[in-house]
Amino acid sequence: MTKNNADVIIIGGGIIGCAIAYNLAKAQVKTLVIDKADSVGREASWAGAGILASHASTREPYPELCRASLSLYPSLAEELKAQTLIDIEFIQSGAISVFFSEEERRGLIGLAERRVDRGFSAEVLTAAQARELEPALSESVIGGIRFPHDAHVRNPKLVKALAKGAGMLGTQFVFGNSVTDFRRENDSIIGVEVNGEVIYGDTIVIAAGCWSGQIASLLGYSLAIEPARGQIVLVEAMPPILRHIIDGLDVYLVPRTDGKILIGATVEFAGYDKRTTVGGVQSMIEAGVAIIPELSEKSFVQTWSGLRPYAKRGPHLGKVPGFHNVIVASGHFKNGILLAPITGKLISELITTGTPSISLNPFRLG
Ligand SMILES: Cc1cc2nc3c(=O)[nH]c(=O)nc-3n(C[C@H](O)[C@H](O)[C@H](O)COP(=O)(O)OP(=O)(O)OC[C@H]3O[C@@H](n4cnc5c(N)ncnc54)[C@H](O)[C@@H]3O)c2cc1C
Repeated sequence: MTKNNADVIIIGGGIIGCAIAYNLAKAQVKTLVIDKADSVGREASWAGAGILASHASTREPYPELCRASLSLYPSLAEELKAQTLIDIEFIQSGAISVFFSEEERRGLIGLAERRVDRGFSAEVLTAAQARELEPALSESVIGGIRFPHDAHVRNPKLVKALAKGAGMLGTQFVFGNSVTDFRRENDSIIGVEVNGEVIYGDTIVIAAGCWSGQIASLLGYSLAIEPARGQIVLVEAMPPILRHIIDGLDVYLVPRTDGKILIGATVEFAGYDKRTTVGGVQSMIEAGVAIIPELSEKSFVQTWSGLRPYAKRGPHLGKVPGFHNVIVASGHFKNGILLAPITGKLISELITTGTPSISLNPFRLG
């Protein structure tokens, strides 16, 4: 390989790496995405449930990022469909958080009030109102809160569309090989090592999900990102029995357009172990059936799991201290699908203009 293979090298072709690549491609930046898997989005970005929760966190400055990202979705869905012919199945179904006890009701109403204070919409429902919207709800549900702006998307299709869109605009992809080191010249990083070869680039973006900490450690930088396993159960429910995303009893149910319902997800710190377990699957099925009793009559389809990139104060978005041309975009934990559009936009702006349209200071490293 000769020098300067790309202006920007992105390590990781998950939803975050592909969203950044797509934005850079639109800005005509010569970009190369490297992933150890044989195609894009094989890890957490495939495994995720695809919920776009407008209120994912009420702790500032998170809500601004969530709101900004969700607001990009409708036009992104249109744009990707026109460009790539892939329908990412963005559906603003709304979500209902159900409660079974007075104590849960008080907690959820407090949460809804905090969300409304931060500009999100929420509507308290009686049991009858909740069941009018979702007749399959259990008789034990005593009410709910409806978040009308919540949405969902088919994340595997979204990653494919972002990668295809970027590729059509000139982004290149290298699959099947891990980045194993950085190449330095004097005190600068000038590229990465892949399979014994050096690939040169002016700027390097670490978007390697729960492996980002391992990659940053090659620079001697300690980035606290670890895997948080999530297991999911898929059931078939035709004709469809749900319209909203439903959450309660520590699980959520996501109705897909193909009639299948996703029940998710566990949060487990089990290292890089991607097994599904009897206990994990059992707890989700029990909670799912407690919310929607007729699920017990439906067909079981499959289970899977993925590793979320957990960062206590994530996501981390910005330059690695001491390295002017190495950027981290990782640690999105439970909200990487929601936050991908805004992450792609802001990191691309950081690279092309130096000034992102929303300040990344609250998310900077170090
Ligand atoms: C069960 C589950 C449910 C979820 N539900 C939701 C949800 O409803 N809504 C939501 O917003 N988010 C959800 N998430 C979280 C979301 O999926 C993640 O936050 C997001 O996918 C992270 O994207 P990423 O690109 O950072 O990481 P990943 O998708 O893990 O991508 C990282 C990529 O880096 C590559 N890589 C790693 N090391 C190297 C290396 N050395 N060299 C080259 N390539 C490398 C990997 O192969 C991988 O493709 C869920 C996650 C799980 C597991």
